[in-house]
Amino acid sequence: MAKILIPTPLRQYVAKQDAVEVAGATVGEVLATLTSEHEELRRHLYSDEGKLRSFVNVYINDEDIRYLQKDKTPVADGDTISIVPSIAGGVTVETPAPPATLSKEEVLRYSRHLIMPEVGMDGQIKLKSASVLLVGAGGLGSPLALYLAAAGIGRIGLVDFDVVDFTNLQRQVIHGTSDVGRKKLDSAAAKMTEINPYVSIGRHEVALSSENALDIIKDYDIVVDGTDNFPTRYLVNDACVLLGKPNVYGSIFRFEGQATVFAYEDGPCYRCLYPEPPPPGLVPSCAEGGVLGILPGLIGLVQATETVKLILGKGEPLVGRLLLYDALAMRFRELKLRRNPECPACGDHPTITKLIDYHQFCGVPRQEQEPVPSQGLSEWEIHPVQVKGNLDRGDRFLLLDVREPHEYQICRIPAAKLIPLGELPKRVHELDSSEEIVAYCRSGVRSGKAVDFLRQAGFRKVKNMVGGILAWSDKVDPSVPKY
Ligand SMILES: [Zn+2]
Repeated sequence: MAKILIPTPLRQYVAKQDAVEVAGATVGEVLATLTSEHEELRRHLYSDEGKLRSFVNVYINDEDIRYLQKDKTPVADGDTISIVPSIAGGVTVETPAPPATLSKEEVLRYSRHLIMPEVGMDGQIKLKSASVLLVGAGGLGSPLALYLAAAGIGRIGLVDFDVVDFTNLQRQVIHGTSDVGRKKLDSAAAKMTEINPYVSIGRHEVALSSENALDIIKDYDIVVDGTDNFPTRYLVNDACVLLGKPNVYGSIFRFEGQATVFAYEDGPCYRCLYPEPPPPGLVPSCAEGGVLGILPGLIGLVQATETVKLILGKGEPLVGRLLLYDALAMRFRELKLRRNPECPACGDHPTITKLIDYHQFCGVPRQEQEPVPSQGLSEWEIHPVQVKGNLDRGDRFLLLDVREPHEYQICRIPAAKLIPLGELPKRVHELDSSEEIVAYCRSGVRSGKAVDFLRQAGFRKVKNMVGGILAWSDKVDPSVPKY
């Protein structure tokens, strides 16, 4: 019998054992027995063609079998076989074999890295051997993709199905004016290849979902969360915890940003911090609340820095620490984060053992970015085209704009009365409950709340214009600017 030592990342496939006793005359036989008993382990060790993956090294006692008789190397009773997957800063590299050297052109390109002892040739090869998945090619994804490509990460995956629009350009610096209307994936990939043709780009033109997340994420060493919505954030977290992948987290809102590294070694995960999402609508998105264009650059680069440090295995990772940044005060703060033993995802007795329906979990309907449906409206809703028809017919009704004054300055529907949602309770006397009222805001969320409020106040002839002034611009009057 030989003893096979199982490295930490692979223990999950062998019932968490750190060593397994297996019989066999050669290393090949021993590994065949091992992988037949632990089917899951097989695809981590062997390619589809049945070859031992090139990033997995096997040692017998202290000798690499590549320098003995490879899989024909004889095994004696009491021998110790070690499986040693290549490690990049503590992260299992499941990408192609680390190249032994850099080309002459690459040496020149990375020379400012190579002369630093913290990176050097070993570090640069780690970067080249690493793979990083960026979820979202937007505000955070832009600086991440640009700098990680420049730094020489070997494989960068992008998950995005969006198209570049004019409102993106204020912060999504990987896209330019001429890219408007183009897929973000195409635009981003073109810029990254221009910066560094040695980077291979994994394109995932999908919305990350419970159905595809594990499949996509499993092929990367590190996941960087650049999403802007809670369902995807919980999805990324849970998938990373389940797969044992570090999740480099960042979020931005107006002038504030946050960053940390979740699900790394014994550190906490996003659910340790926030076990439950906020109720829908409580926390506005950047689309509703706005964001300083520069902010995702800064937070995205904090994420990029942490990613590079994890790969190099250098420095003190941002694990167990939540970095808070306030751009107005120009102040950084740090909060301690601890893994919660009761955490449903990464705790001692996890209840999340597979991915769930995250839209349902967060109470957010799917495809919230989708255009307004013209059917299926409730009696409290009205489509912008119907509103236009009513106006054209000369129907008497009040158009109530519940946005903020600075939004009203950007665009408005003529003759609308402005009462910001927050002022509605104290100004409700300005409205006549016998009159028909159509409320609108930017996208229909706040005006929906205004309609709910007015109904509770006894108004019976009040409707929410679904999709807000954005839908008005799309469906009725394209001269109205979108913001
Ligand atoms: Zn947790």
